[in-house]
Amino acid sequence: MKSVAIIGAGIAGLTAAFYLKRKGIPVTVYEASGRVGGVIQSLRQDGWLAEFGPNTILETSPKIAQLVHDAGLQSRRLDPAPEAEARYVVRYRRPIEMPGSPLGFFTTDLFTWKAKLAVLREPFVPRRADGKEESIAEFVQRRMNQEFLDHAIDALVAGVYAGDPYKLSVQHAFPKLARLEERYGSLIKGQIFGAGERKRSGEVAKDRAPKFSFDEGLQVLPDALAAQLGDTVRLNTLVSKLTQTADGWRLTLSEGQVPRAPNSENEIRDSQSSPLRKESQAEHHAVVFCGTAPRLAELKVETTGGAGSPLPADGAHGVTRPTSKLDLSPFSEIRYPPVASVVLGFRRDQVTHPCEGFGMLIPKIEGFKILGTIFSSSLFPNRAPAGHLTLTSYLGGERYPDLALLPPEELVELTCADLCELLGVKGRPVFQHCVLYPRAIPQYNVGYGRYRELMNDIENQATGFFLAGHFRDGVSLGDTIVSGANVVERVEKFLIAR
Ligand SMILES: Cc1cc2nc3c(=O)[nH]c(=O)nc-3n(C[C@H](O)[C@H](O)[C@H](O)COP(=O)(O)OP(=O)(O)OC[C@H]3O[C@@H](n4cnc5c(N)ncnc54)[C@H](O)[C@@H]3O)c2cc1C
Repeated sequence: MKSVAIIGAGIAGLTAAFYLKRKGIPVTVYEASGRVGGVIQSLRQDGWLAEFGPNTILETSPKIAQLVHDAGLQSRRLDPAPEAEARYVVRYRRPIEMPGSPLGFFTTDLFTWKAKLAVLREPFVPRRADGKEESIAEFVQRRMNQEFLDHAIDALVAGVYAGDPYKLSVQHAFPKLARLEERYGSLIKGQIFGAGERKRSGEVAKDRAPKFSFDEGLQVLPDALAAQLGDTVRLNTLVSKLTQTADGWRLTLSEGQVPRAPNSENEIRDSQSSPLRKESQAEHHAVVFCGTAPRLAELKVETTGGAGSPLPADGAHGVTRPTSKLDLSPFSEIRYPPVASVVLGFRRDQVTHPCEGFGMLIPKIEGFKILGTIFSSSLFPNRAPAGHLTLTSYLGGERYPDLALLPPEELVELTCADLCELLGVKGRPVFQHCVLYPRAIPQYNVGYGRYRELMNDIENQATGFFLAGHFRDGVSLGDTIVSGANVVERVEKFLIAR
């Protein structure tokens, strides 16, 4: 039976492994850290539920609901209350509710008449003719105006990528926007006329997609997938090298526990720096790398003439096939700025703002330290004890990378100061946890196409070696689930063809 190695037990790797196993294909998942889920990390403690990484999944593709169903998690799925739809954007140093309808847009205080008129003019702005790849900032300046960029898009970009709108590529980071312009000549026309097309494909636009979590947080999903995979998930096992053989791939493994970072409540999940003890090897017919771009850059990959090579296996009959090393070093150039998640719990009477809704996004121009805050306990029930609320804030990203690296006490201080002005938070939190993501989210900056082409070349060149996950097919949880599900089809095709 042909077997497959999955590198990385984040949601992409677990999804791929889960579906391969369901197809009867033997899989082994190798995970460098001591837990499954990758950046997904939920903590239940004393009646609080803290979500450090992603908070919600956006159901942008039917494959996402399918996974929840196939994993047997439908009864544990939590959909937010309808009143939790409200989103706020900070302007004039206070949160203002984002308009939910065209009428709301024209009456909101969030934008001046100049910005509103710029949006009205958008359908008449011609397509970009020279085909140049633009940043999202250039795109919005051209199609709308600077105010819309500074007070809306900048905040959105911080919320999704913790990124810089002047660097992120509209084509790669917001491909649907780029496609709307290309196809319909306008974002507004595309929203109206593209509805039928989206319905046919089963895709839902991100701004309209239902979002959800689970009763015990998002960690429920990787835990359920890992439980069904059983002991085929090997934790504390870093894959450091791949060597192509006549039958497939030999993996060099370094096994050993990843220690927690001393003297800090930050859990540094970055396993590379830890002393890994035991070296061993494993053989598989195909390998799917579902780790991160920096880890991909460090992976040593030796290829031969490929599975179809006329030469026999290494050393057999005294013949050694010539090997060549894949140069994966360009992937180290992909930026992953650090992000700190600061989860704070307060008594209800410590907070003036009702905090009803999804949360607030903060544009850089407003001058706060935090990038935004999720009203976690308003979004889903059972995230805070009765009479309390949980606020999850983020610091760092491309905007202020150094802030993410501050010690937890300073992170809490800075966050409380911003929340005091914005939400009327008083006094010390009664619950607090900070987690640092030293490399949080890859920045799909202008020029990212080069890495995507390289990934396609690698799959073509190193037969039986596949790539999937957040650095390839989009950074949202939904994108990574779809990426994990789609790579299964490519692997299956390869195994059948061999
Ligand atoms: C703070 C934060 C908030 C976010 N919020 C949201 C949100 O609200 N909604 C949303 O949709 N998305 C959100 N995202 C994005 C989304 O969560 C991620 O893009 C997605 O979970 C990535 O999944 P993945 O499986 O591709 O990668 P990861 O989760 O990074 O998993 C990769 C795994 O591979 C392992 N690995 C790497 N190299 C090796 C190796 N050589 N050998 C063995 N193992 C290896 C790593 O240890 C890791 O466990 C957020 C991300 C962050 C960081």
